[in-house]
Amino acid sequence: MWIIKSLLPLFVCALLGAAPAPAPPADKALTAPLLPGEALAVAGTDGQVHLFGAEPSRESAMGGLAMLPWIKLEGMSWASDDLRFACTGKWDGQPCWQPKGHGKLNLASALLLDCHLAFLGWGRASLHGWLRDYGDGAARARLEDAFEPFLGHRIPPGNGLPAISPDWVGDGELLRTSPEAMLTWLLDPAQDETVRHCKRLLTTFKNYNYAENAWWIKAAYAPEGTEAPVGRAWAVGSNGQITAVLRLPRGGGWADAMRRFREILMVPKGM
Ligand SMILES: [Zn+2]
Repeated sequence: MWIIKSLLPLFVCALLGAAPAPAPPADKALTAPLLPGEALAVAGTDGQVHLFGAEPSRESAMGGLAMLPWIKLEGMSWASDDLRFACTGKWDGQPCWQPKGHGKLNLASALLLDCHLAFLGWGRASLHGWLRDYGDGAARARLEDAFEPFLGHRIPPGNGLPAISPDWVGDGELLRTSPEAMLTWLLDPAQDETVRHCKRLLTTFKNYNYAENAWWIKAAYAPEGTEAPVGRAWAVGSNGQITAVLRLPRGGGWADAMRRFREILMVPKGM
């Protein structure tokens, strides 16, 4: 992993289109440039955010990246309850962006495969519990606190708890971010526990426990309109040294985002 860290300046040069110095890398695959329409925000251990590509500071619908604030809020509780969900492509009148469905899921696989419906079901159940335990106002404050960086002022004013619609798990335009804003959120020490939990959920047992600087990667889909294939995909991830947020142009899917993240960030096979 040290080699990736030491090559980061070269990688940055390549993305900028500048001549790499002092010598080009031995393996050209280590400096995959961005494709048109891709946007990347990346930071090393110094926490300095580097921005590349197509409008990395412009906000757009965050899609399944909305699962990260849900993990922050309820991840520990959902993991200890060992929640399950069977995605058939439709639930409670709502379609999943994956029309065939995601099949049987637990928290780790729902997060990995980006099943919005699983998080919708679990989120609604959690809010039901908050209402019982804390009441309307405190439940709303809890929700607003976790999602505030992505909400702008799009939540209706008042004290009541909004209905947990699919917009709260990544459909629609309620929750928005940019590669820059998402990376800044991830790097905030307030997210340390969430990041650790994502790593635990998204790496193998062996990598989590034994591999130094193992990568966790969360790819996410943001459906736009009613036609699922015209949405936009994201991927975020970290190996503890490098943390990055990638946004693909419209038309890219979950699998494209996962593949492009691995190419651009030079994620070793098996990590
Ligand atoms: Zn699904």
